[in-house]
Amino acid sequence: MVKRTMRFLKNVRKISLICLYLSVPINLVSIFIPTISMKVIMIALGESMLIAFIILTFLFWKCPYCGKRLPIEIEKIVENNKELYICPNCSKKITQ
Ligand SMILES: [Zn+2]
Repeated sequence: MVKRTMRFLKNVRKISLICLYLSVPINLVSIFIPTISMKVIMIALGESMLIAFIILTFLFWKCPYCGKRLPIEIEKIVENNKELYICPNCSKKITQ
């Protein structure tokens, strides 16, 4: 269970950040699309990416120990060649 936590957290973070980074260019590109129907599709796609990011972050980007939501920028240390996150609320190391 705990062994999976770190990988799970990392994946959630990766996917949610990809959604965030995709939503911005998609929304920007949609401005220059002349066709209304294509524009609507692009905006909808961009917005759903943004919503996916918010939902993923809100639901799953949490400390497994205290359950509080983690900040976007989290302190990361490397110990024994493993990347660890440190929860700013309870100061516990979120390990593998
Ligand atoms: Zn915590």
